[in-house]
Amino acid sequence: MLLKNVTYLDENFNLATTKYLTIENGRFAEFTDDLKKSGCSLTGPMGNPVNYQRAPQIKAAEVKNEKEQIDCTGLIIMPAFYNSHAHSPMSLMRGYGENMSLNEWLTDKIWPFEAHLNSESIYWGTMLSMAESIRNGIVSSTDMYYFTSDMVRAYLDAGVKGNISRALVNFDGTSYKEMESFKEMESAYRDFNGYDDGKIIIEASIHGEYTSDEQTVRGLAEHAKANNMRMHIHLSETREEHENCKAKRKKTPCEYFAQCGLLDVPTTAAHCVWVTDSDIDILKEKNVIVSHNPQSNLKLASGIAPISRMMDRGVSVAIGTDSVASNNSLNFFEAMKLMGLLAKVSTMDPTVLAPKEILAAATRNGALTQGRDDCGVIKEGFRADFIAVNLNDIAMNPVHEIANNLVYSGDPSIVKMTVCDGEILYRDGEFTKFDIEKVISNANRETERILKLV
Ligand SMILES: [Zn+2]
Repeated sequence: MLLKNVTYLDENFNLATTKYLTIENGRFAEFTDDLKKSGCSLTGPMGNPVNYQRAPQIKAAEVKNEKEQIDCTGLIIMPAFYNSHAHSPMSLMRGYGENMSLNEWLTDKIWPFEAHLNSESIYWGTMLSMAESIRNGIVSSTDMYYFTSDMVRAYLDAGVKGNISRALVNFDGTSYKEMESFKEMESAYRDFNGYDDGKIIIEASIHGEYTSDEQTVRGLAEHAKANNMRMHIHLSETREEHENCKAKRKKTPCEYFAQCGLLDVPTTAAHCVWVTDSDIDILKEKNVIVSHNPQSNLKLASGIAPISRMMDRGVSVAIGTDSVASNNSLNFFEAMKLMGLLAKVSTMDPTVLAPKEILAAATRNGALTQGRDDCGVIKEGFRADFIAVNLNDIAMNPVHEIANNLVYSGDPSIVKMTVCDGEILYRDGEFTKFDIEKVISNANRETERILKLV
């Protein structure tokens, strides 16, 4: 692929330009103003000048060496988003039960619905989430649910990356090795870890401190260490969870997990709303990356995570959507804006958290917490995961500082193209890998099937 007339976000989230940007083998290969050096000669039309307020159409033209050529005039090429906490199949429960207490919502709505999920519904629910993710600029998600192989199938069909885990939940003292969920995790790891040039990573997961016993936590910690697996957990999401753990174990969930050895492998900890200062020190010491889920924390009235305090103490923070059932969309622009606004109002300090730090959370930090060290930056040698944003959109003008516009004025409608490992997944409203109408109708059909059973 050859991008021409490129304005892009560099690793410091400043605008930079290059006349040509070549993409080879799914990676950014060369930034040059002299195409002769790249060995590529152009023959196709070079695109049209863009009218103000008109979204540029991204037209491809052929070049002699059969590289696809895209004129990027009027666009910003920026890193794609990495969603650090999701439960993708739950898109089938979008808007299913509102204004309920968490307990009532889970007991009366979510768990009865989940009892009727099967391979088909998991697949189409995941596909619906992947379509929404791609349209919104997300190319990779850290995803915790079950029916792992059906989720992997959807990820591969959608052309995106995923760190997928089967969360363990164990209340009754069964040996964790005897649990079906553990066996599912093991076989998913054996079958899919590293699949498709690393697009699929299988992680270990404990759902939460309050949903498993200690032998399960310690056992999974040992298993993850022995098999070089990454870990995905919920941590101190609600005050009730945090306080109950202190009352029961005389330690916080973070202290408990650290003592069980669970944080000794690279870990993504979702929420961390109620963590203490000493918890934050543990997160820093263990290099845990925190997944901040602002919409879900607001909607479930969980609280406001002390993000700026964590960042001041050197903890790395990424952004997650949580499930569509508690969000109710996969809108990373909204998440970025809320991250900034919540940090400011919760500290009563409008100077905290610069837009560039928020962009880093949405992109590079998300890639890092997925163990994707070669992703999340527009730079030579890095994987070509990027979105093309419409610089001519009303909300992107004028540009005093582009990071400010992207974080506080942007929305998914400015995403014109989404690319993962150099493959175009979405362009000018069209999906390239699947039939979106089929995805929507099958997701609706599965939802209706389940609603007849609950
Ligand atoms: Zn969650």
